[in-house]
Amino acid sequence: MPGIYLHIPFCRQACSYCDFHFSVNLEKKTTLVNAICKEIELRKDYLEDRKLSSIYFGGGTPSVLNVEELNKILYTIGEYFEIEKNAEVTFELNPEDADPVYLRAIRSAGVNRLSIGIQSFDEDELKWMNRAHTAQQSVDCVKNARAAGFTNISVDLIYGSRFQSEKTWRQTLSRVFDLNIQHISSYNLTIEGKNKLSDLFSKKQEPEVDTELSAQLFDALMEEATKAGFEHYEISNFCRPGFMAVHNSNYWRGEQYLGLGPSAHSYNGFARSFNVKSNTKYIQAIENGKGFSEEEVLTELDKYNEYVLTRLRTNWGCDLVEIAELFGHKFKEYFRKNLYLHEQYLERKGNIITLNQKGKHFADGIASDLFLTSEATE
Ligand code: SF4
Repeated sequence: MPGIYLHIPFCRQACSYCDFHFSVNLEKKTTLVNAICKEIELRKDYLEDRKLSSIYFGGGTPSVLNVEELNKILYTIGEYFEIEKNAEVTFELNPEDADPVYLRAIRSAGVNRLSIGIQSFDEDELKWMNRAHTAQQSVDCVKNARAAGFTNISVDLIYGSRFQSEKTWRQTLSRVFDLNIQHISSYNLTIEGKNKLSDLFSKKQEPEVDTELSAQLFDALMEEATKAGFEHYEISNFCRPGFMAVHNSNYWRGEQYLGLGPSAHSYNGFARSFNVKSNTKYIQAIENGKGFSEEEVLTELDKYNEYVLTRLRTNWGCDLVEIAELFGHKFKEYFRKNLYLHEQYLERKGNIITLNQKGKHFADGIASDLFLTSEATE
């Protein structure tokens, strides 16, 4: 079933590694919330009357929204879309915003899943990342969230910085498991895009990310998370049984989704659209009722390549029967014949191909070797 993603493009301060679209100037927040509500109305037919199984507030920092703004957005979605009774409503929250009153209010507004940006428990690393919270605030945030009635809590962690060793990373993971959370999203630090870290790196004031260390930390993550009872269901995502993220899983399964707000993407089964990546241009375009997004129609080739890229990252994998059904026999044969390229990194159970533990280190590279190019189809 489809979902809605809302991009809240504001942050209190810029994290040194971040490549997302956001502004630290919150002056236009109310105007932007009104524009998002207008976009909800303008795009009410995008998902063809299908019920929503998930609503995801991402960003940026959704927890810069006050409760009235959150309620307004949820109320507007409810006016134009039918929402499943048990739909997942996720809200990304930064630990510094975890005031108990606020948490209770967003729970009452209908948010039933929190994604908390903990990132690290090392104070020096948090400062280097320019995060706006301390390790203690992260711990308090999870406790306050539970006290406010949240029973589905995910935390974000970053690994691979020069502040970490395998020992400190395992200690971080142990502290996270002690928090009794249901889901972990953990990403390898990358130096890319326009941000402070890239800037320092280009001036040779920051070293490259140590890929060997990153690989060690990823192995430690897989080992510790499995020991703690988490399922590794997507390269960067781990959950306790029954707590797979509905929103992200829908995305990996190729479901339709509507992305609202500046820089948000949407997919309706045959085309992707990309909203303009500027708060000012977005607000102006929405007010004029046009020109806030660009569309790219996907070819069968694009769809097949996306299928391979996303499915290979998951533990439900690529299904030969499904590839034949979705894209035809030629695509299935191409996929099957090229599996030998990475035989040592793949597992096959009947028609299902997944990555083995070693292969999980090279997911995107392996997928790209199974991509079909236009020349190969001729
Ligand atoms: S990491 Fe999150 S909080 Fe930090 S700047 Fe990026 S979007 Fe904002």
